[in-house]
Amino acid sequence: MTIEDILNDARSVVKKVVPDHVEITQVDFEGPTIVIYTKNMEVFAESNDLVRQIAQQLRRRIVVRPDPSLLASQNEIKKRIGWAPKVVRTPPIPSKTVEEIRQYLRTINDERQVFLKQVGRRLAREVPPGENYVRITALGGFRQVGRSAALLSTRESKVLIDCGVLISEDNGSPYLNAPEVMPLGSIDAVVITHAHLDHSGLVPALYKYGYDGPIYTTPPTRDLMSLLQIDFIKVAMGEARKSPYDSSNIRKAVANTIPLKYGETTDIAPDVRLTFQNAGHILGSAVAHFHIGDGLYNVAMSGDIKFEKTWLFNPAVNKFPRLETLVLESTYGGYHDIQPSRHEAAQQLKEVIRRVLTRGGKVLVPVFAVGRSQEVMLVLEDAMRNRQIPEVPIYLDGMIWEATAIHTAYPEYLNSQLRTQIFQTGENPFLSPMFKRVETSDMRSNICDDVEPCIVLATSGMMSGGPVLEYFKSWADNPLHALLFVGFQSEGSLGRRIQREAREITLTDRGQPLTLPIKLDVETIDGFSGHSDRLQLLNYVGTMEPRPERVIVNHGEEFKCSDLASGLYKKFGLEARAPMNLETIRLK
Ligand SMILES: [Zn+2]
Ligand SMILES: [Zn+2]
Repeated sequence: MTIEDILNDARSVVKKVVPDHVEITQVDFEGPTIVIYTKNMEVFAESNDLVRQIAQQLRRRIVVRPDPSLLASQNEIKKRIGWAPKVVRTPPIPSKTVEEIRQYLRTINDERQVFLKQVGRRLAREVPPGENYVRITALGGFRQVGRSAALLSTRESKVLIDCGVLISEDNGSPYLNAPEVMPLGSIDAVVITHAHLDHSGLVPALYKYGYDGPIYTTPPTRDLMSLLQIDFIKVAMGEARKSPYDSSNIRKAVANTIPLKYGETTDIAPDVRLTFQNAGHILGSAVAHFHIGDGLYNVAMSGDIKFEKTWLFNPAVNKFPRLETLVLESTYGGYHDIQPSRHEAAQQLKEVIRRVLTRGGKVLVPVFAVGRSQEVMLVLEDAMRNRQIPEVPIYLDGMIWEATAIHTAYPEYLNSQLRTQIFQTGENPFLSPMFKRVETSDMRSNICDDVEPCIVLATSGMMSGGPVLEYFKSWADNPLHALLFVGFQSEGSLGRRIQREAREITLTDRGQPLTLPIKLDVETIDGFSGHSDRLQLLNYVGTMEPRPERVIVNHGEEFKCSDLASGLYKKFGLEARAPMNLETIRLK
């Protein structure tokens, strides 16, 4: 069927379904969606059933819009009805990222319409008859953590899932030069599970090297990943390294993103349909479910998942209409990776903080800007409000403030309890006056020198750079204070070296070696991880509906991948394997 055939088909279905007096002015593609323009919006507004019927008959996503000639400005509405329409919502913290992206998308609106039409036309291309197959190629992040990427290929289409970077390596790119992948222009769609750089860090580079198509991801992931990508190239420039792309490539990625909410199903290739479900890991993180062909095959990519309700998110979804293969992360999939519960972790955190603050000390918490910071903020806000810890200022330094602001712009992605707290009782814990943003280096030095107790959350999470080092340098030799780790410290990082009971540490300070005695308390609290531990991973598969026939394990150090794969085989008797990067598995 040609594209015009599909549109003609759509027009005739619309004509059949809607009553005769309804005026339809246009039917066209916009990305994967068919858009119907009408002069009688009220008819569609009154009956949801019309859209459902059309969507069912066409088996496509349908959107109905008022004909452009009807679009009244707010002023006109005000004139007609005498009062201004107002959208009531808890005021979020203003986010520069969200503002800039929305503004940018407004300025490129016309180009975007053209782009979306092109995408729609490419999606509707005819699939010649032939033998069907489904394969998955491991391009990065298999038997390792970092540079996640995989290619899902069918007879007709190619879908790239995640395109991350391995930060600690000079050449931390996935194998994008593999013959299956090249040329990049032959890829139909790029799907991003979440914003962490090990999943999204090289997405803009795709546009530098010839990809021109769409990115499918959730709206918060689009915003968070551009924030992290901008920071990534800034850090590279600061360290006089060559950045793999520049800000124009990041803008192009934003322009080509087609945002998808959880639970919305959409065509992303002629024979591939995508649905995102909550992954519970960070804001907007998703498990990507692919339905291939007409009932031919189903694959889900877990991305990073948390299968436990956290202070921020509901647990990862593991119910799908159909599923044959699951690709599952294994960061904490090793035999000994059992973590304390959220509740125990919070108790420990409060105990340490109470002890240090009451003796007049300060608490420094190195955190990742996205995920862990907001979770620790929620625990601290709750504890301080309920007088379980002394009331002191909580300073946020680094990108934490901006990342938190993005969280408040998307409250519908937070867990049900937090949503109720924000919307029904009007208490947004992120807006608490306890939190203070560190905006200048002067303010930072004042906090460093001040004698009053306080709590500081600062990036980077593994102390590889960033403002956390300034506080650490000032407070390291004072036994009153404490350094509190809540996140994963990778082998070789400064955080890991300090954690291993170093009594003194040498770091580079403005190009000079600086040796610091470590006299402050060093504490580690496990249980704040955004990843499932081994039991949660096994439970995720054990309670999955339907249970998949096969699990492909990735995103873990080599022995964790194999530990989890053999655990899954022994416990559930399903086919489980941990392929190497560059291996291809034929699924169907
Ligand atoms: Zn992640
Ligand atoms: Zn990851």
